[in-house]
Amino acid sequence: MRILLASSEVYPFSKTGGLGDVVGALPEALAKQGCEVLVVSPWYRTLKALPPPLWIGDVTIPFDGNYCQAGIGTLERGGVRYAFVGHSDFQRDDLYGYDDDLKRFCRFTRAIPQVAARLDFLPDIIHVNDWQTALLPLVLEHGWHLPEGFPGLPSILTVHNVQYQGVGDLEEVLYWLRLPGALRESYLHHFGSANALQAGLGFATWVTTVSPTYAREIKTPEFGYQLDGTFRHISNKFSGILNGLDTNIWNPESDPHLPRRYSVNNPEGKRENKRTLCRHHHLDERLPLLAVISRLAEQKGVDILLEAVPGLLAQGWNLFLLGSGEASLERWIHELSATYPERLASFIGFDEELAHQVYAAADALAIPSRFEPCGLSQMIAMRYGTLPIARATGGLVDTIEHQDTGFLFLHPNPEGLLWAASLAHRYCDSPTWKAMIRRAMARDFSWESAARRYYDRYHAILTAVDERDIPLYR
Ligand code: ADP
Repeated sequence: MRILLASSEVYPFSKTGGLGDVVGALPEALAKQGCEVLVVSPWYRTLKALPPPLWIGDVTIPFDGNYCQAGIGTLERGGVRYAFVGHSDFQRDDLYGYDDDLKRFCRFTRAIPQVAARLDFLPDIIHVNDWQTALLPLVLEHGWHLPEGFPGLPSILTVHNVQYQGVGDLEEVLYWLRLPGALRESYLHHFGSANALQAGLGFATWVTTVSPTYAREIKTPEFGYQLDGTFRHISNKFSGILNGLDTNIWNPESDPHLPRRYSVNNPEGKRENKRTLCRHHHLDERLPLLAVISRLAEQKGVDILLEAVPGLLAQGWNLFLLGSGEASLERWIHELSATYPERLASFIGFDEELAHQVYAAADALAIPSRFEPCGLSQMIAMRYGTLPIARATGGLVDTIEHQDTGFLFLHPNPEGLLWAASLAHRYCDSPTWKAMIRRAMARDFSWESAARRYYDRYHAILTAVDERDIPLYR
């Protein structure tokens, strides 16, 4: 089976969060199952590729009422081919956060079929991810000047986070993508604007999200960010597939970032990792250490945790906070670090190596998310013998068993978190706690089973398309 995976980020080349991790791991897992995979992603100025991709030339894309050129760089890794799309739109400091993001990713999306064709890659199915590439199914259905074989190809859209939707001016999007005006009345239209994610929900052959519980939640107004009605409407082509974890990168037995490696059968090393981190940050290593490793965004409920800090310290926890994001939360963390220098240490910024060390050093990881499509940090924590204390939502529900491999609380407020933290603190270092750690570390979160589910879904889509007698190849 030939699969084209399109994404705005792909680890280790680019990453701001879980999307990058998922698209970094799924292709190799699919390749191991015998699939031929091409991953197409932007060639950011900050792309982490050494040696850099091999530049193989330009392609012409119909865009913005005209044509434009985009460069292609390729490389191979782990049996997967990667193509990076180069354009001045991506020569910036950050991946996202610009006023013209929708236009940037419309251009990227429109380049994907042309890039694949240039590489002689005609996929059986195209798998797009989040709003940045969600317009591709619509382009495949209605776009013109598509390479031979691409019009009407079946597609699957994975929603990693429904909060980000790619909203903009409807007329502009139609003009950029050179789409017919009749599409004003299509799934592209949402409350008077263009909505890239909703267009993907409507036009993709199948839609998945990253956990079964989140798939249920986003059909409700509380979690659906105004797309709950659309999710209910497409429920006959919508399902949840739990993410896996890249267990080669996240493995305490072989993690090169750790002062001391350890495993479920040899957990002693964890203590030394804690000692090293605590000494470096002037924390008393005898107290249980509760960590946070998170984007500082409303979704993650870090404000809930910060409000609970006095209560957590009173319970007897020391805290380590690693995160970056909203300036007001960063300031709040700085203030707390200054107020409780002996009990709370923090690092503001995105630091992959430190993240590994904190997962290894902490006793527990707080995840007070308001919503969590899947979440990787709880899986990483469990693998590192660090028990998650998490809000019972989305993928956290599907991966953590309360009082067995972690602790869950229902209400996204300081009282909820403090309730679960006090429960955890009571167990800390007891034989029950150690047994929980063993069970958590033994959980299988590998990509193998997740990739199998995607494979089965691709297969089902292709079979259904065949049954409807729509020619796959033109
Ligand atoms: P999301 O994708 O919503 O941010 P996930 O839990 O799915 O949340 O994935 C978060 C990933 O980003 C994890 O691998 C986590 O370790 C990492 N991460 C988050 N914040 C930081 C940070 N400040 N420094 C290093 N890694 C971070």
